[in-house]
Amino acid sequence: MILSTFAILGGASGFHASAAESNATEQTIIRNEEQVSIQGTDKIFTGNARIDRIYPANNKMRSNGTSITFEPGARTHWHVHPVGQVLIVTSGLGRTQEWGKPVQEIHPGDVVICPAGIKHWHGAAANKSMTHIEINEAEEPGKVVEWMEPVSDEQYEK
Ligand code: MN
Repeated sequence: MILSTFAILGGASGFHASAAESNATEQTIIRNEEQVSIQGTDKIFTGNARIDRIYPANNKMRSNGTSITFEPGARTHWHVHPVGQVLIVTSGLGRTQEWGKPVQEIHPGDVVICPAGIKHWHGAAANKSMTHIEINEAEEPGKVVEWMEPVSDEQYEK
């Protein structure tokens, strides 16, 4: 089954609403408290993950920015990005894996570039949380990811 983040989270859930609709001719300052934290669902994560929006796409800008904090052992389901994705690890200790390749450890300051169409997952280490910023670009409005099956414990531990 393939689902998009957009559907699961109910559109631009958690994003700054007016910035998402912006046809702005001046700067927009999104105040910290204007975007609430969202608990990730088990439809796209194993374990506990918190989603903090940074900035939405709008009718001119195709990327959005989102911060995800994974508790120890938590990870995304397998997925692909239609245009690609950039991950910037900001704290903790993490893991990522491409389908058919070994699990790799990722550290604060590491930048992971996920090419379009490559099946992968990302998440925390087994005993340490991890936060990363995601820059997600959309091919068509709102379509930044196609979700697949959960990452099994066996896959995660390899
Ligand atoms: Mn990804």
